[in-house]
Amino acid sequence: MLDVPARRERVTHVEHVPARQAGKTRWPDWVDQRLVTRWANHGVSGLWPHQAEAAELAHRGQNVIISTGTASGKSLSYLVPALSATLDGGTILYLSPSKALAADQLRALRELDPPELRAATYDGDTSFEERTWVRRHANYVLTNPDMLHRGLLPRHTQWSAFWRRLRMVVVDECHGYRGVFGSHVAQILRRLRRICVRYGSRPTFLLSSATASEPGAFANRLTGLQMAEVTTDASPRGSTTFALWEPPLTDLRGEGGAPVRRPATAESADLLADLVASDVRTLAFVRSRRAAESVALTTRARLGDLVADGSAPADLPDKVAAYRAGYLAEDRRGLEKALRSGELLGLATTNALELGVDVSGLDAVLIAGWPGTRASLWQQAGRAGRDGQDALAVLIARDDPLDTYLVHHPEALFGRPVETIVLDPGNPYVLGPHLCAAAAEIPLTHDDLDVFGPTSKEVLADLVGDGLLRERAAGWFWTSRGRATDLADIRGSGAAPVQVVEMSTGRLLGTVDEPSAHSTVHAGAVYVHQGETFLVAELDLEAGVALVEAGAPDYTTFARDVTDISVIESLDSHPLGPGELHFGSVEVTSQVVAYLKRRAQSGELMGDEPLDLPPRTLRTRAVWWTLPTSAIIPLVEDGLDLGGAAHAAEHASIGLLPLFATCDRWDIGGVSTELHADTGLPTVFVYDGHEGGAGFAERGYARARDWLTATREAIASCECERGCPSCIQSPKCGNGNEPLDKAGALRLLAVLLSCDESRM
Ligand SMILES: [Zn+2]
Ligand SMILES: [Zn+2]
Repeated sequence: MLDVPARRERVTHVEHVPARQAGKTRWPDWVDQRLVTRWANHGVSGLWPHQAEAAELAHRGQNVIISTGTASGKSLSYLVPALSATLDGGTILYLSPSKALAADQLRALRELDPPELRAATYDGDTSFEERTWVRRHANYVLTNPDMLHRGLLPRHTQWSAFWRRLRMVVVDECHGYRGVFGSHVAQILRRLRRICVRYGSRPTFLLSSATASEPGAFANRLTGLQMAEVTTDASPRGSTTFALWEPPLTDLRGEGGAPVRRPATAESADLLADLVASDVRTLAFVRSRRAAESVALTTRARLGDLVADGSAPADLPDKVAAYRAGYLAEDRRGLEKALRSGELLGLATTNALELGVDVSGLDAVLIAGWPGTRASLWQQAGRAGRDGQDALAVLIARDDPLDTYLVHHPEALFGRPVETIVLDPGNPYVLGPHLCAAAAEIPLTHDDLDVFGPTSKEVLADLVGDGLLRERAAGWFWTSRGRATDLADIRGSGAAPVQVVEMSTGRLLGTVDEPSAHSTVHAGAVYVHQGETFLVAELDLEAGVALVEAGAPDYTTFARDVTDISVIESLDSHPLGPGELHFGSVEVTSQVVAYLKRRAQSGELMGDEPLDLPPRTLRTRAVWWTLPTSAIIPLVEDGLDLGGAAHAAEHASIGLLPLFATCDRWDIGGVSTELHADTGLPTVFVYDGHEGGAGFAERGYARARDWLTATREAIASCECERGCPSCIQSPKCGNGNEPLDKAGALRLLAVLLSCDESRM
């Protein structure tokens, strides 16, 4: 694969991740012999040290989070204390982020078939009759936060027998509870704790998560409880050779004449073809359904060339296929089977294959683009490796500052994790609806305020002012006839999504979040749905509908917006170099004012069409930095374009924040200005793109020095001359990536980071 000399230069790093020997297994002596026998029948001879440690803590009533790698057997660490508790007459509440995972867990429990277990799922698919049975008889209930929020908690009286005996709450795969959704789940768990107190139980919380930095602190934010953490993984693992790969710059020119890198998908198709031709069973992970199809197609074409040369057997192209969500279940099962049997050698897939599907025993995994978190990276890489044989994994960088940084900083991937899972339970937009829901469950008293955190008093006063709650001597009451839980849309943005409808057929193609509708489905926009292209004829905001018709334009569209930000309040600040760093609340006003048409292949600008859309405002949290005029003057005298430098630094820093907080760059936004009305100085803002904030900007504030240092390094390590999508250009820039000054951004950040360490 590396025998083509030009390719060797594309490998920026090779890491040999050694095999890990399993720690010794044992059973804690409190585990019932009947359970030990059941597990032994399923080939489990005991717990590895990390499982035993978490199980032991939970058994003793200590709340704990276990945060270890994929396939490290986290489920056994909660099943052992949980099933022990059911033998003792206790009940268990198991929460998973998805119905599919809960169904998987139920299947595993039924196969194990432990004594006294009456396990059942309770979710949107559970029939009315089953629900009654579950409430009355089940001692192990598998559900999700949505159902807890809308079903179990509001109707807590019907579950009284279950609550009274509740011994343990398992929160599985809890790293998914981040950002605004995580903040909602945090409040739902607080409501759950309050219900338990009412019924006299005090369950132990056991959380399981992928690896992350500071899992205990995250678990504490999620539950409001002190949590122990278990992070040392003692499960066995095969060795992996991990290569980091950076596609070369091409002669193609993109926005502002910037060089464009060869797409990660094109590189993946080349590598996939080579590996398949060498009889290496390979999975290629790509980011979109369309990419899965195109990588499979390109790979087959490359192999077809080999067949035409006579250097490969005629059936080789047929050994490559695509796999993605949207295929029929039976087709997917067929593909999985063909890959296992070796009938297929190469599969290009979206992350639909990442979880819960039994495809292992592959030789190599290609990962086209950073999958967003280390958890996903290892989940995907972990698909390679047959019975202790050395496996190959390749991470191929996309044209993006974070990918650029990672392929040049292997320590960020192979060292200790730096990303934490962030959320902000104090967000008043999240807290308010849950206080109403809690008051509807059981009237709120002053004693309850501790559970909901320090901001609850203020938020309650607002809710009373708005007429949502009534305050009496005894506390706060929900007196409306409506359902309080309807106030919280825990997975959504608050507003109803915009429906995308095909005009000629009336077919509903999909939905778009209301906040992004202005920029993605405005009149004239090119809208892509499952590989098909449509043109938006009309966006009717009042009706919440975008009408589209099929079309095949040879251009793409890109919305331009005007964004203003005003500082409401700086909540915290400290000096940073000669400048200052702040964290606080802001109001962001943005308006989509026009859209650009660009030729699909060359990116050449074809036109700029005005749009008439109303402005949107967002009250949220931001981190911002300023530099004093004295620090700026020498730079400007030296020819630095201040606006372009600040704008470039803003883009790159947005691209790098996901390294420290599990978010993606679409969760955050930025504004940079040469002179900001509120600070009176050159200022760069990075804000949470969700009403009330989601914890991302706060994390940026807490890790500002590391974050901005990484930002500077990402810009510096890109070999382009004046800026490209791998460093300072942003795919979501509302200003058409203008102005940008790459050298200026490096100097600006150097000045900002130049203070002596003791001041931090
Ligand atoms: Zn660049
Ligand atoms: Zn921009």
